[in-house]
Amino acid sequence: MNIHLASPRGFCAGVDRAIAIVERALALFGAPVYVRHEVVHNQFVVDDLKQRGAIFVDELQQIPDDQIVIFSAHGVAQAVKQEAQKRKLQIFDATCPLVTKVHMEVKRISMQHEDCILIGHHGHPEVEGTLGQFQQHSKGHIYLIETLHDANTIKIQQPDRLNYVTQTTLSVDDTAEIIQHLKQRFPAIKGPKKDDICYATQNRQDAVKKLAGYCDLILVVGSVNSSNSNRLQELAERFDVPAYLIDTAENINAAWLTGKKNVGVTAGASAPEILVEQVISRLETHGGKLAQQLHDYQEHVTFSLPPELRLAAE
Ligand code: SF4
Repeated sequence: MNIHLASPRGFCAGVDRAIAIVERALALFGAPVYVRHEVVHNQFVVDDLKQRGAIFVDELQQIPDDQIVIFSAHGVAQAVKQEAQKRKLQIFDATCPLVTKVHMEVKRISMQHEDCILIGHHGHPEVEGTLGQFQQHSKGHIYLIETLHDANTIKIQQPDRLNYVTQTTLSVDDTAEIIQHLKQRFPAIKGPKKDDICYATQNRQDAVKKLAGYCDLILVVGSVNSSNSNRLQELAERFDVPAYLIDTAENINAAWLTGKKNVGVTAGASAPEILVEQVISRLETHGGKLAQQLHDYQEHVTFSLPPELRLAAE
């Protein structure tokens, strides 16, 4: 059984930055540091930060006065930011800059009193945060759609003053199809040059497509609430390759490996490499051998820390 690693896989620049913000805040100010929502969607990362003194909360009300709050990489609605400011909490914002870019676009659309369609998953924190950028006093409207059916049936109040934006971690192919249908229904619709799907999501999906060409099983390291990891598993299955989303090597079921010659391994943007290494070791105990990597794609994106944390560390 050959083990083939996807390239790229695992941590993206936004996740690296978000974790570094929590670590830096803990180092500078000491525990506890409060984090609103899981800073990134990975159980291992969250458990590790918990042990080091981070406290994860769903809402700001759970944070006592005069404390530090870190907003997760997924971003927060304006109302959450305003509430934290009103409470005089010390804020460090770990929102990925690529999510912030979408936030600024939605804010601009709302200030111009135009309508906006957000393509994304109901209930995902990034979507909640992006919806929450649309100014309440705007005469425009924001609509959330998730599927092709939504795109074909949604009723828009200002079809001639319409824009679209997307969640950053969607399926590239599904989103392209949805946008194409929106353009057919609403010829005046405006959007970003391509879509708002981030470089990391795009690259990890491209890498899985390559693996799917020669693997007969694909394991995706990632947590069940990680949007981009789920998309990788779905993508592999679309190519008729059985695929499983696993949090850790412990989740590997030996029966999955029976008769498999080429097993692909990838990891979502929030899954650390140590978990991939453990998966490789587990596969080796089942007779797997690491194959020479056929594709190597180096990413060179980095995001700097908020100036307050950067300066304090210098
Ligand atoms: Fe940013 Fe993309 Fe990483 Fe999300 S997956 S944190 S949008 S780079």
